[in-house]
Amino acid sequence: MKRILVTGGAGFVGSNLCARLVKDPENHVICLDNLFTGRMVNIESLLHLSNFEFVEHNVQQPIDLPVDQIYNAACPASPPAYQKSPTDTTKTCIFGVLNMLELAKKYGATMMQFSTSEVYGDPEVHPQVESYRGCVNPIGVRSCYDEGKRCAEALCFDYNREFGVKIKVIRIFNTYGPNMDPQDGRVVSNFIMQALRGEDLTVYGDGTQTRSFQYIDDLVEGIVRMMNDSRSDFLGPVNLGNPGEFTMLELAQKVLEKTGSKSKVVFRPLPGDDPTRRRADIALAKQELQGWSPAVALDEGLDKTIAYFKSLM
Ligand code: NAD
Ligand code: UDP
Repeated sequence: MKRILVTGGAGFVGSNLCARLVKDPENHVICLDNLFTGRMVNIESLLHLSNFEFVEHNVQQPIDLPVDQIYNAACPASPPAYQKSPTDTTKTCIFGVLNMLELAKKYGATMMQFSTSEVYGDPEVHPQVESYRGCVNPIGVRSCYDEGKRCAEALCFDYNREFGVKIKVIRIFNTYGPNMDPQDGRVVSNFIMQALRGEDLTVYGDGTQTRSFQYIDDLVEGIVRMMNDSRSDFLGPVNLGNPGEFTMLELAQKVLEKTGSKSKVVFRPLPGDDPTRRRADIALAKQELQGWSPAVALDEGLDKTIAYFKSLM
C-alpha cells in the first residue's frame, strides 16, 4: 500500500487528483485541507471509500503522518481569494512547504510542490520556458502568492541539495474544469456563471491580455506521470499547461456562443499587476514525461465545464 498525502485535497485541483489516485486500490489517499477555499462537496463521493480519508488541518502547522508521497497543493489560487488574506497566503506557501519538506525528510517520501506560472510574473519572454527567471513585482498585490511560490521552490531545491529530500516541482498554468468553485472569481468560472445567469460578462481591462487554459484531466495526467516516473530522477521545475493562447475577449465570446447566452460583455478596471501575456512552453514536459501532451482543446473543455456548472444550478 502506498500512503499518499494530498494537501489542499478539497480544492479544485486537489479533489480531481484525489479522485484519480483512489482508483488504484494500492493507494491510500489522505486528503488534508483547512477548507479555506476548498469545499467538502468536492470530495463527498470519496468519503465512503476505504482507501480515502479526510484530515482537517492547516499546513502552516506541522503534522506527523507516515507517508510515501506528498502532493503539496494547499494554497488559494484565485487572485481575489489569495489577496483577501495576503499575509496568510504567504504563510501557507512558506510554512506549508517547510512542514511538507520536513515530513518528506522524516519518512523518505517524495514531495511534489504545486508551483505556478505566476513565478514568471508579467513575462518578457514568450512563451514561458522553465529557464526564464521571471519578472515579478516583489511588493505588489500579487506578491503574496508569486513570491510565496518562488520562495517555496527555493526551499524545495535547498532541501534536496542540503538534506537529499526527494522533490518534484511543477509550474501549473491556468487550469479549469469540474470542481472549480463557481464563486472563486477566476475568469473561466466567472464568465460561465455570468453567462448561465444572464448577467454581464465582466472583462477586466481591455480584454486583450492572454492566458493559456488547460483542462483539469490533462493536468492530473501530467502530475501523476511526474510523480511516478521510475525511470527518471527529473526534479523539474516543469511547466504543465496547454500552449493554446487566448485573449479574455476571445474567451468571453466562446462562452457566450457555447451557452447561447444573451449576456453582454462589460469592461471593468484591470486589477494590479495583471500579467499581459501568458503561454506555456511545454517542450520539457513532453520530453521528460513520456510524451505527455494536453489532449483536451479549449472548446471541448469548456463544454464539459459548462455542463458541470449547469448541474450546480
Ligand atoms: P483551490 O483554491 O481550489 O484549492 C486550494 C486548496 O488548498 C483548498 O482546498 C484550500 O482550502 C486549501 N488550503 C488553502 N490554504 C490552506 C492551508 N493553510 N492549509 C490547508 N489547506 C489549505 O485552488 P486550486 O486551483 O485547486 O489550486 C491548487 C494548487 O495548484 C495551489 O497550490 C495553486 O497555487 C496551484 N495552481 C493552480 C492553478 C490553477 O489554475 N488552478 C494554477 C497554478 C497553480
Ligand atoms: N479576468 C476577467 N474577468 C473576470 C475575471 C478575470 O477579465 O471576471 C481576467 C483577469 O484580469 C486576468 C485573466 O482574466 O487577466 C485571468 O484571470 P484569473 O483570475 O482566472 O487568473 P490569473 O490572473 O491568476 O491568471
